[in-house]
Amino acid sequence: PSLFASQEPPEPAGTHVIRVALASAADTEFDYLVPDALWPVEVGRRVEVPFGRGNKPEVGFCVESDVATEKAFHGAGGKARLKRVARVLDDEPLLGPDLMELARWIGEYYVCPLGQVLAAMVPGAVKRAAGVRKQRCVYLTASPEEVAAELRSAKQKQIVNFLSEREAVTVDAAVEVDELVEAVDCRPPVVKRLAEKGIVKLAVRKVLRALPVVPESMANPEREVVLNADQQHGLERIVQQIESARFGVTLLHGVTDSGKTELYIRAIEVVVAKGKAAIVLLPEIALTAQTVQRFNARFARIAVMHSGLTAGQRNVQWQKVRAGETDVVIGARSAIFAPLPNLGIVVVDEEHEPSYKQDTVPRYHGRDVAIKRAQLAGAHCILGSATPSLESLHNSRTKSSFTLVRLPKRVMDLPMPEMKLVDMRAREAVADRLDLLSRPLVQHLTETLARKEQAILLLNRRGYSNFVFCPSCKHTLQCRNCDAALTFHKTPRTTAPMKTVTGRHMDFGYAICHHCLAKTLVPRNCPLCGKAMTMIGLGSQRLEEELAARFPEARVRRVDSDSMASRDYYRLLKEFGQGRIDILAGTQILAKGLHFPNVTLVGVVSADTCLYLPDFRSNERTFQLISQVAGRAGRSEKHGTVFVQTYFPDQPTIQFALKQDFEGFVREEMKHRETCTLPPLWRLATVVMRDETYDRLEAAANKMRLRIDDAVARHGLQVKVRGPMPAVISRIQRFHRLQIVVQAPTPAIMGKLFADLRTAPPIRPAVKIAVDIDPVNLL
Ligand code: ADP
Ligand code: ZN
Repeated sequence: PSLFASQEPPEPAGTHVIRVALASAADTEFDYLVPDALWPVEVGRRVEVPFGRGNKPEVGFCVESDVATEKAFHGAGGKARLKRVARVLDDEPLLGPDLMELARWIGEYYVCPLGQVLAAMVPGAVKRAAGVRKQRCVYLTASPEEVAAELRSAKQKQIVNFLSEREAVTVDAAVEVDELVEAVDCRPPVVKRLAEKGIVKLAVRKVLRALPVVPESMANPEREVVLNADQQHGLERIVQQIESARFGVTLLHGVTDSGKTELYIRAIEVVVAKGKAAIVLLPEIALTAQTVQRFNARFARIAVMHSGLTAGQRNVQWQKVRAGETDVVIGARSAIFAPLPNLGIVVVDEEHEPSYKQDTVPRYHGRDVAIKRAQLAGAHCILGSATPSLESLHNSRTKSSFTLVRLPKRVMDLPMPEMKLVDMRAREAVADRLDLLSRPLVQHLTETLARKEQAILLLNRRGYSNFVFCPSCKHTLQCRNCDAALTFHKTPRTTAPMKTVTGRHMDFGYAICHHCLAKTLVPRNCPLCGKAMTMIGLGSQRLEEELAARFPEARVRRVDSDSMASRDYYRLLKEFGQGRIDILAGTQILAKGLHFPNVTLVGVVSADTCLYLPDFRSNERTFQLISQVAGRAGRSEKHGTVFVQTYFPDQPTIQFALKQDFEGFVREEMKHRETCTLPPLWRLATVVMRDETYDRLEAAANKMRLRIDDAVARHGLQVKVRGPMPAVISRIQRFHRLQIVVQAPTPAIMGKLFADLRTAPPIRPAVKIAVDIDPVNLL
């Protein structure tokens, strides 16, 4: 025997090794032995493995099956051997090769560990097997003739005949006991007795509850539409690309109501006729029954995925998709990971929407992942918007895979709404300096209500007031955890009233931090000087109050994201559609794809809320906001009017938006982006580091900067690096935040830099690092 043989137990015969990406571990994958009893473990199945010193059980995806590895048998120093897979969690792979490939791309591009990408791709409801129940079922073990002599009662005979008629002679064909008992009208012990005699066999199987999300049969609410010339031309170009069976992107730039959705549907019909399937991404909030029903009316086999579903429903939808039982998947951002076997087209509606960017790891952009997925599948991709992102617009001008299709007019020659600017600085604009609603807007609202038409008022700020302060010593309420002022929220249970600067008495409530959600009771008196506190600034709650005071007769409802579960939101929209609400007032979510023919007035209460955000996209957001909300007005034969209230009437973006001059806006904005080497011309990435101890954070951030400089020098990369400097919000939840901003002329150069940084050892474990590639909301 050799020197080592005595120390090593004999090799188990035929042992296989798999590579596992853990959701919780570092940016590495690990190899594990698979005991023969568990083999085979294919790529895409999840396994439970012991991890780390304590052998803590961890879950990960198998990302490589049957890895040939030396280490499996001779670990370092001839001792360390691979650990063993403890359990295999899935009967079948949760992710196919196509999604695996997509996951690797996301991991690389967004600098995120593969295990975390994979974990995010499969809904929690699927992993937990939500909605699965155990079903007792029964089947025959012999033919009715063979057992006829043994049957003692009419009921027993009935049972055997029933099972025989249903051909329930194998486990797979077994009939549920409950169903059987009901059909032959007997009691369960009768079945049990037959089982004891061996005439039938009982079994348990797992089934998914039927949890539909779309009403089964809906009368077709769509009238047959005949495409207009622009639509016809656009469709031809899209179909051309679909026929070419090669990857390509169509940027569909069409004003609101130009018939974009109709084109998506037609394009998908072409794809479905070829036996392929579609994914349609919508911003979460646009996933109303309205939109879903529109697709449901045109396609028989659809699946829906959004946050309004229960876990069970989500699992049912996902399983249906994976089984190839759907032609169209409609969903929010993460629906891009729907496990469709034969993808033919991906549609991203409202492609400019910032909400497509995920703000937790993996920080992917739904639109960009959609393009990638289409590319990997050789499918077509349609990006649709009334105000395309400058990124997509730039791509359409520079990339050969992109085609720009424009729908410049509203369908059926509906007139564009009339845009009216209200200069809030003018003395005659408002009755009281602190009013939110200008005289012309109030006037128009009154007339609109008198005509029994509806209005939407947009105020892009939640809460009641964004400043609670002491007028005598100027003390403001700040969040104790974050570098941010608190927003006052009224609570329904009111006790002590408090005076606002408008002179109105207001209810008592809480001040909430919108970053960490910390809640504080608002002190009536200033904690520093003891004088009465007051509040300024504007929020959607205050708008609601002002409306109620001015239009006591009108039915006013407020919609905003923090007060509302998505189900309530959907219900509210339904009521609005039925004309049971006169005025909807609320935050930005109202600007999304709603279609209410009776809305003839839209008011942008403050066009300035986005204008001075510390974000280079603030102009773009302002333009989008005004255009989108304006699109809500006059979506029928009735004339629509849009009031844009602003303190900066000469600001170029506001002017372009008012004239609905998208080209003009883009020309101006691109100049600025070019001068400042910003997206879409250059690429941006941020490295945000946070820690509770400022000194430790600063030291780590400086070290990170040195590393970046070093990598830049070694590879001779043409990038610009700024920082460390305070992040936009320099403290959140007690964590100080510093950021380093990197600008690179191409994604390849950016990728090279981060690929290099990725291999470096951790800087300081306590300091959290968040890399955001192509950040959308700079915080
Ligand atoms: P968008 O998605 O650009 O806002 P839609 O496709 O939703 O536009 O169209 C707006 C409305 O006009 C819908 O009710 C749709 O059914 C209808 N529509 C679309 N195309 C036509 C057409 N060619 N003729 C008449 N109505 C149309
Ligand atoms: Zn806070």
